[in-house]
Amino acid sequence: MEKQSSSVKVVVRVRRFVQRELDAGSPCLIKMDPTTQSTTLMAPAASDRSRKHLEDKTFTFDKSFWSHDPGSAHYAEQADVYRSFGEEFLDHNFEGFHTCIFAYGQTGSGKSYTMMGTPQQPGLIPRTCEALFQRIKHQPVPNTTYNVHVSYFEVYNEHVRDLLVGGGDTRYLKIRESPADGVYIQGLTDATVRSYADVEELIKKGDKNRTVAATKMNDTSSRSHAVFTICLKQIQHSLTHDETVETTSRMRLVDLAGSERANKTEATGQRLVEGGLINKSLTTLGRVIAALADQRRVVPGGSGRNSPRPGTPGAGTPGRRMSRLPTNEVVPYRDSVLTWLLKDSLGGNSKTAMVACVSPTDYEETLSTLRYADQAK
Ligand code: ADP
Repeated sequence: MEKQSSSVKVVVRVRRFVQRELDAGSPCLIKMDPTTQSTTLMAPAASDRSRKHLEDKTFTFDKSFWSHDPGSAHYAEQADVYRSFGEEFLDHNFEGFHTCIFAYGQTGSGKSYTMMGTPQQPGLIPRTCEALFQRIKHQPVPNTTYNVHVSYFEVYNEHVRDLLVGGGDTRYLKIRESPADGVYIQGLTDATVRSYADVEELIKKGDKNRTVAATKMNDTSSRSHAVFTICLKQIQHSLTHDETVETTSRMRLVDLAGSERANKTEATGQRLVEGGLINKSLTTLGRVIAALADQRRVVPGGSGRNSPRPGTPGAGTPGRRMSRLPTNEVVPYRDSVLTWLLKDSLGGNSKTAMVACVSPTDYEETLSTLRYADQAK
């Protein structure tokens, strides 16, 4: 069936060469066509080949972001990436719906650059937050009060750690589920923010905690999923009745664990356990997104506004048999902590995007990322 108004976007971004690759004179293995949005991964030259037979592979995604040759038609800066779907996702939040953006790829492929960026080149998270406060300030809806909360946590080995608690606290928090609140993390910091400057402070604190904790625990940052959540509450006051209507929408921005951990087979001990858990959570996420994309191809827009809670029975019920899941199986949210926690922000009328981040020089890992992204479509 033709993909009309699917709420799942899958895009690919190739990062710029890093110094190591420039020094080694590594060739660029990626070609992108801005008219068709196709991405071709070219097999490395014969001298680089192992005994395996490698081939050129072409994939087509909703968008392809090129990072070389400024001035070329598909060259994309951070602002271009934000403009291409970040803005649309923020509109969706103001309309009262949830959104989720994931960055997927091997370590060093540009996930953090895409999500968080640098002070000079801010990524999707700071741009979204800044635009959110600009809108509240300059385009407020009459008689509406806005409340914004932020949380930032990390999922490591299927455990959750609060990144907004000082000192690189490495304690894990408990996950609970209640009929009223759905799935939630007990004791997670939910910070009220009144301006973009407040968010900047929290991002700094969270990133510092992530680094400190990672150092204590032997660099967990590439092996954990970092979930930044912005919760927008809009309270509309009725002029004629003494009542208010409250809408809550969540933006989840997720920097996933490096996908190479899931592919490596030579690991032993703790790394083997980690690799297995990362593999499981990334595979589950791929299956969940693919199932949602399938549902939405049939039921454009899924269910109603985010009441009832998206992801609950009745929200976004599949309209046909899902091709990638057995017919009697529901969306497998519960198969990993990450998807279980994000269940209320996926499904229903939420919008989801996956940015597949790839290195320009690594054939095997890039192929694995492009295949993953292709299956998530
Ligand atoms: P990951 O989070 O996937 O491990 P990073 O985001 O840390 O990878 O990226 C690795 C390096 O490449 C960093 O130095 C980052 O600044 C740089 N980088 C990544 N993507 C781009 C890009 N599109 N343009 C310029 N530099 C980039």
